Amino acid sequence: LLSNRLQAVYQMVEAGARVADIGSDHAYLPVELVETKVVDYAIAGEVAIGPMSRSKEDVEKFGLSKKIDIRLGDGLAVINREDKIDTVVIAGMGGILICDILSRSTMEQLSNVNTLILQPNIGEPLVRHWLIEHDFEIIDEDILSEDHHDYEIIKARKKASVAGLTEAQYLMGPILMTKKSDAFINKWQRKLNGYRKAVDNMHNAKKIDETKINRMKQYIKYVEEIL
Ligand code: SAM
Repeated sequence: LLSNRLQAVYQMVEAGARVADIGSDHAYLPVELVETKVVDYAIAGEVAIGPMSRSKEDVEKFGLSKKIDIRLGDGLAVINREDKIDTVVIAGMGGILICDILSRSTMEQLSNVNTLILQPNIGEPLVRHWLIEHDFEIIDEDILSEDHHDYEIIKARKKASVAGLTEAQYLMGPILMTKKSDAFINKWQRKLNGYRKAVDNMHNAKKIDETKINRMKQYIKYVEEIL
């Protein structure tokens, strides 16, 4: 049984994909994908030995060891060309770590990968910048709130070249901005209140940091235009 967050990631995986779930921890996502026959093969990559050996036991218990490879290793080092992985999932980490894992991957590891499904816990704009700079076009996005946290899921596809986004799109998500779901509006209404409070506090501070105030005001403008 997946959390709502992992369920939203699961929904983005296409039928028949060959998936590598990097930082899979308990391997819940690959197990669910294979058990529900969305995919017939997945790699669960994990850098920490504890979760990896637990996942291995679970996968054996469910009789799935032929369809799910549990591999110990750092980032995309667990995949190679022969695995023919076309979809990489990285979920439940900060945006900096996700970008770092992707940046350290080699052309060989990424050779067959045409789809990335990323779920940063924070730092979503960083992830969008990484994608666009590496010619991955954002083709779907989702947002949900679970346990008082907003989670965004970003799906991207490799293209020959990709146009840049506006600052507002990097911040809020090009697709989320058009979908404007309740979760999206709640998140940005809350953020807007936070930005306004921050500007008030900065104006009242002894030393006024104009650059910071202007950046915050810019964010307020972007969000107000969308909501
Ligand atoms: N992906 C799962 C999810 O979304 O529920 C687990 C998220 S868990 C918070 C993050 C996992 O990423 C941890 O198990 C951690 O050991 C693993 N991790 C962190 N850095 C990693 C790396 N460089 N390569 C592979 N796994 C990594």
